[in-house]
Amino acid sequence: MIEYGAIITSLRTPDRHGQIGDVVLGFDRLDGYLAHSPYLGAVVGRYANRIAGGRFSLDGATYELACNDGANHLHGGRRGFDKALWRGTVIDDDGSPGVAFSYVSEDGEEGYPGRLEVEVTYVLTSPRDLRVRYRAVTSATTIVNLTQHTYFNLSTSAKDVLDHRLTVKASRFTPVDAGLIPTGELRSVEGTPFDFRSERPIGARIGTPDVQLAVAGGYDHNFVLDRDDDRSLVLAARVVEPESGRTLEVDTTQPGLQVYSGNFLDGSIVGKGERRYGRRAGLCLETQHFPDSPHHPAFPSVVLRVGERYFQETVFRFGVLDR
Ligand code: BGC
Repeated sequence: MIEYGAIITSLRTPDRHGQIGDVVLGFDRLDGYLAHSPYLGAVVGRYANRIAGGRFSLDGATYELACNDGANHLHGGRRGFDKALWRGTVIDDDGSPGVAFSYVSEDGEEGYPGRLEVEVTYVLTSPRDLRVRYRAVTSATTIVNLTQHTYFNLSTSAKDVLDHRLTVKASRFTPVDAGLIPTGELRSVEGTPFDFRSERPIGARIGTPDVQLAVAGGYDHNFVLDRDDDRSLVLAARVVEPESGRTLEVDTTQPGLQVYSGNFLDGSIVGKGERRYGRRAGLCLETQHFPDSPHHPAFPSVVLRVGERYFQETVFRFGVLDR
């Protein structure tokens, strides 16, 4: 991991034969991240995902944000947390090794109110967990939605992720309009290509005629995780790569999960080992609050007030299938 963007640049896990391989997309050199990176491996903030029209109101005041995704705001704006220089400190978390990245986002940065002090820690816990904890405090009422934007490919090869088998613990998802902004509906996944309640290859239904798949060019949707309204860690998703036998489970305290099947990767980016990242070369599992929450009072709140402590946790658990 590096201080620029608090980016995870490499993550090496064994396959079923004990062969170690790198399961995340990225670049061999810093230049790649600086030049043009679709958030590969980065922490995304202050607001991960989209805010319609790049505008929101809070306590009677209206705030203007950059529209860097058509008419909408995406992933914190022109210079989001993915482009910030964080300060990394090696930590020992109860005997587990980790790094704490801290960053201060000044009042008004990218149009957001409040001076936000953020800390993201990555800790490796036994046997093969990557534990990500997000903390923040603010000097004025603001909105916060932080996530981790790693693109996984458990095959470690040039193959796309369509054969990866996915389970998502969600009975509903948030359908979107043409600008990928939620309509506000929480739609049942029943009978749709969004039903991953039992394991399915990502590619099995991605080509079926479906308005929601069509607007996003595949999966790029927020799933409403099945959970009680508490803040405990629950299983959100599981991924199995059948050839290597590698598995990944994602636990989170968050209410939502953006499943992004890398639809906008188009082969123009040359990543690690000179590999071109073509369409669907990686899968993002972004634990988050729902997109455009400031415009949907019925969605879980993303407001952080003075004196409150923002805390979220996501665990990426790596494993292998039993032989
Ligand atoms: C979004 C995609 C976007 C991508 C950035 C994802 O989190 O959901 O729509 O294109 O990030 O490359």
